[in-house]
Amino acid sequence: MGRTLSAGWLRKLQGLLQDLPAGLLPDALLPSALRTRPSIPEELWSSTLARLPFLDYLSSDDRRRLKALCEDLLHTKPLGGIGGFEVDDATAVLIAAQACVLVLKLDLSLYDDMSAILVHPDAFQVKQQHLDDAGVMHEWDEQLAGEAVDQGGAVVLSWQDLMQPQEPGLPWNLVIHEFAHKIDMGRGSPNGFPPFLDRLHSRAELANWSEAFCAAYDDFCERVDRLEDSLPPDFDPERDDHAELYDALAGELPLDPYAASDAAEFFAVASEVFFVAPARLAGAYPEIYRLLAAWYRQDPLMTADSAR
Ligand SMILES: [Zn+2]
Repeated sequence: MGRTLSAGWLRKLQGLLQDLPAGLLPDALLPSALRTRPSIPEELWSSTLARLPFLDYLSSDDRRRLKALCEDLLHTKPLGGIGGFEVDDATAVLIAAQACVLVLKLDLSLYDDMSAILVHPDAFQVKQQHLDDAGVMHEWDEQLAGEAVDQGGAVVLSWQDLMQPQEPGLPWNLVIHEFAHKIDMGRGSPNGFPPFLDRLHSRAELANWSEAFCAAYDDFCERVDRLEDSLPPDFDPERDDHAELYDALAGELPLDPYAASDAAEFFAVASEVFFVAPARLAGAYPEIYRLLAAWYRQDPLMTADSAR
């Protein structure tokens, strides 16, 4: 997310693209003007929706609109593999459906800042830097399943991670997480405060956004602190029994502990849970659920039956 890819990673990325022999650049990476607008075959569309049971709340009209948005996204944004990976149609549509559900009742222009969607075969290593309060620069390598690069950058996704089955109720979704970051970047650096659109958003409904998100974020950080305080003094995440204990404790939290990293991660993780496990978010942070429902202009808690 807000973490900028290191120069080394960007060189690696450019290298991967330049390594492709001329003429073998995937069609999907051609400038959009050279591509025709795709039409997703009905069979592929049905199988995509079957793999995303959390979308069951959408009405038939919403599903048709989602399909049209996917076709627009695939037409206007370059999407292709890196690291020797080739993206097939099923993967492209699977990514597009999850990316577009965020903007289903909004506007695809929220992704104007995104240059491309790149798919790596598995998790990738990125060099991270952080300047602490004492002015000391810390550098470390981090293994990532996804990354949204700000300032016009791409969204990079690990194919292995995005292909994990989307079991109902599990509170995470890689694609929604990274595209929520992209939306958050619409105002510049991500800060958990996505742009309000004049035509589509009611400022009155969203008036207490900062206040409510700050309060929920502080509360969640306290919950994560309490979890960490309850770990054994010799806690070692590499130990299987300790990792199991951590997972059990983290499973009781309404959001993944990663949401406590900063306000931007809190917004991205809350957006994931809003779409894939809405009852969980509404139960723990009802005001955050209400605000996200007002911002996304959707209510995933509605069952498919009542939506039709
Ligand atoms: Zn993130």
